[in-house]
Amino acid sequence: AMPDPNLQHWLAKHAQRSPDALSVVYWRQGEETERWTYGHMHRMTQGLAAWMRAAGVRPGDRVALLDFNDVRFLVTMFAAASIGAIFVPLNFRLSTPEVVAMVQDCSAALLIHGAEFAPIQAEVARQTECRLFLRSDRQGGDEFAHACSAAPDAHASRRLAGWDETAWLLYTSGSTGRPKGVMLSHGNIFWNTLNTILIQGGLPTDKVLVSAPLFHAAPVSTVMESFLRGATIHLEKSFDPGSIIGRIASERISIIAGVPAMYQFLAEQDDFHRADLSSLRGIIVGGAPVPDTLIKRYHDRGIAVIQRYGLTEAAPLVTALAPGAPAAKAMTAGQAPMFGDVRIAAAGIDGIGEIQMRGPNVMLGYWDQPAESAAAFEDGWLRTGDLGRLDGDGFLTVAGRIKEMIVSGGENIYAAEVEARLAENPDVLESAVIGISHPKWGETVCAVVSPVPGCGLDEHRIMGHLQGRLARYKQPTKIVIVDELPKNGAGKVDKLTLKRRYGDDSDRRVENA
Ligand code: ATP
Repeated sequence: AMPDPNLQHWLAKHAQRSPDALSVVYWRQGEETERWTYGHMHRMTQGLAAWMRAAGVRPGDRVALLDFNDVRFLVTMFAAASIGAIFVPLNFRLSTPEVVAMVQDCSAALLIHGAEFAPIQAEVARQTECRLFLRSDRQGGDEFAHACSAAPDAHASRRLAGWDETAWLLYTSGSTGRPKGVMLSHGNIFWNTLNTILIQGGLPTDKVLVSAPLFHAAPVSTVMESFLRGATIHLEKSFDPGSIIGRIASERISIIAGVPAMYQFLAEQDDFHRADLSSLRGIIVGGAPVPDTLIKRYHDRGIAVIQRYGLTEAAPLVTALAPGAPAAKAMTAGQAPMFGDVRIAAAGIDGIGEIQMRGPNVMLGYWDQPAESAAAFEDGWLRTGDLGRLDGDGFLTVAGRIKEMIVSGGENIYAAEVEARLAENPDVLESAVIGISHPKWGETVCAVVSPVPGCGLDEHRIMGHLQGRLARYKQPTKIVIVDELPKNGAGKVDKLTLKRRYGDDSDRRVENA
């Protein structure tokens, strides 16, 4: 018989087998706040599950959460799973109307919120039908802690789940219109977790550091890997490069997961070269294009860089590099996992086309949006909206997003390629490339560059560096120097904001083209 896939069992089983093993260490502003064993985590979860049931939350109901990264995120997630409710973690950087729209979209039965979010909660109460709230506040009046102390209830802890039963609803910001809630089943999450563990390897002794916001699919899936194999998560309230470097040595962290920008900031720290990073088995990087130069920088430090590529709709893994992959493949995003296939659709002569995936990790669909859900698939394959190329051995190179491709005088320019060349300039800290309209070429390249502080980098030196590295039609016609690139909650560059700010060609600064 098939095992029951309810995520809750992962926690329950470890709590039973090794109750004193460490499950999560939670850090706020560099200070250790909680150190929880599997046994403790399970008790908190069962208390909260009993409270939810008593409060009237039923199987299939949506339980929304709005708070900063916190160990309580995991308690809520497992508690929801144990009563068969659907967990909806919301982006804590959203504005009030955006949160209201999501709570309405999924008609949440319960909203759990951090104390700082009380004004948003008040608007949710006023504008939506959600009537049940639970406040998390370590300063006092902590309803969350009280709920977790409820006596466990046998009905709330033994619930079986179907493989195709929705466990999580993860909203993607979606650049236009209504937010899209990606429905991921217990089965999707199980297969994704198994796929990543099979590629990555993993020991119960692993100490995994996660600082990205957990409402995103990649960080939370890294946490799930740790829970399936009984390892320890070091969860950061927020990303603080200075304190993280020290923590790698003091806590003997073995794996870090994050986006490229995070590793860029870590490598810029004064003590990066002196720090003891010997405990690291590797760093997992993905979520945005990964510059080759970044990979080299960590290789030079003797650290394996494990690139992953995915998206929320795939729970999220589409491809990953295995730790022992041949050196020649070090710059790729790796291969399809054991359970799942990847193909390139409508490839051009350069071999680049849309990356598509099929597998047991691929979402059920978007919540309450049948037309959008159908449009996300082509003959049963998930359309990622990303461009890429597979080599003869099935290793994927991601070329960027379809909507970010710049078409200049009929030639395709991939933002990721221009960004990769810019990153080869040692004075460039970060860069982002967008298309701007051009009277003659239709579109041309605009590069927004954040230089290493104090290096005096200007447009002319940037252009000089690009000569001979990049075909002329791919070179920027406009360069904007900024202190810092705007980022979204996941630490990814917010290209929409860049387009709004700099998408106008009238103030062109470089005479090229
Ligand atoms: P939203 O859909 O919320 O607007 P998003 O598109 O960033 O945001 P996610 O599912 O969080 O949604 O991110 C997935 C996207 O991130 C992929 O479609 C791809 O464009 C990009 N990405 C992920 N991993 C990589 C990688 N290794 N290299 C290049 N791009 C990547």
